[in-house]
Amino acid sequence: MKNLQEKIKALEPTFIGYRRDFHKYPEAGWTEFRTAAIVVEKLQAMGYEVKYGPEAVAKEDMMGVPSPEELKQHMERAINQGANPEIVKKMEGGLTGVVAQLKCGEGPTVALRFDMDANDISEAQDEKHRPFREGFASENPKVMHACGHDGHTAMGLAVAELLAEMKDSLNGTIRLIFQPGEEGVRGARAMVSAGAVDNVDYILGVHIGFQAKQLGDIICGTEGFLATTKLDVTYQGVPAHAGAAPEKGKNALLAAATAALNLHSIPRHSKGTSRINVGILNAGQGRNVVPPNAILKIETRGIVSEIDEYLVETAKNVIAGAAQMYDVDYHIEIVGGTKSGESSPEMIAKVKKIAEEMDFFKNIQENSDFGASEDYSHFMSVVQENGGIGTYIMIGANMTAGHHDYYFDFDESCLAPGIELIIRTVVDIVG
Ligand SMILES: [Zn+2]
Repeated sequence: MKNLQEKIKALEPTFIGYRRDFHKYPEAGWTEFRTAAIVVEKLQAMGYEVKYGPEAVAKEDMMGVPSPEELKQHMERAINQGANPEIVKKMEGGLTGVVAQLKCGEGPTVALRFDMDANDISEAQDEKHRPFREGFASENPKVMHACGHDGHTAMGLAVAELLAEMKDSLNGTIRLIFQPGEEGVRGARAMVSAGAVDNVDYILGVHIGFQAKQLGDIICGTEGFLATTKLDVTYQGVPAHAGAAPEKGKNALLAAATAALNLHSIPRHSKGTSRINVGILNAGQGRNVVPPNAILKIETRGIVSEIDEYLVETAKNVIAGAAQMYDVDYHIEIVGGTKSGESSPEMIAKVKKIAEEMDFFKNIQENSDFGASEDYSHFMSVVQENGGIGTYIMIGANMTAGHHDYYFDFDESCLAPGIELIIRTVVDIVG
């Protein structure tokens, strides 16, 4: 294992280089053409059997996909920024997921999930912000890696390389899942449908920071991943002169407003935590026009998937009822969603033991309550439903601002211990 540390140290400039490159060319959900193309090329060169495009993402289960015009622009941008055009072509339609596998003899299958997408945020252009000062701030307008997924993808490539070198001493299968569209919980479902976690016995996911806020902190397991659903609702009415012929109009604004108030009065659920939020209501065209159009952006959450399903089903009734009151048409689109979840105790114990052995982590916490949603829980809960086990680890890092802040940056010295922890956990299972 001392040997492993030396190898990671030697590889550090490479994976920090990856992180800064991904940071400079960030790509939001379903537009990760350049990032995914780099991942594909590197994994193929390491000897992995790599699936991407339609082999890795089931098109019919993608949620919250940008318009075809936007996707086309992003494909062109990615190629202009150095992506391999042939690989990008195969991801047409936003199929930017990558699943790579390395068979190392007989044994269990271990999956590792790394997310690749950035946020819809304009990065701070300020000398006190290190990525700007050191020349690796975002080159892509209104997109920024403000959650650390650039670091996750870089870690994934380093882990892949070192595990491939250890191939002959491993007994089992390594499956690497590079996920698009984690933000807005849009990507996991389509990858699960395409078979990303079929036959997986163990699954591991990591996130830099979050509740592990200092270098040397580690949280070995997570509970309280909230199941969530994101819905866009449009109401379509009929415009009319508000003074001369109000009775001829059909008022979509009032239908939306009625829905908004009543969505917030859906009864809570006795089995645990639930949330509902109407975050956006846009409606109407002019002061003297009966409003013919309205859109609502809604999310529901539940501590277990059953509660989230209850909220969604009840919300559908409220939305339909409001449409009927004002005699308008409506359409509901599910634009995101994921399952609830919690880490498996056996897997937490394994990670904790390894973290203790590493002699790097100073503050080892067994479990923490996430209190929010992460698309990883979709992968993990499917693995668990099929008899496997998994956990979600938070690797401590000093950060300059909170996640999703345009001043967000993290201390890259968290990457090496994160990589070591993941590799040692994999070796513990298939070594
Ligand atoms: Zn994140």
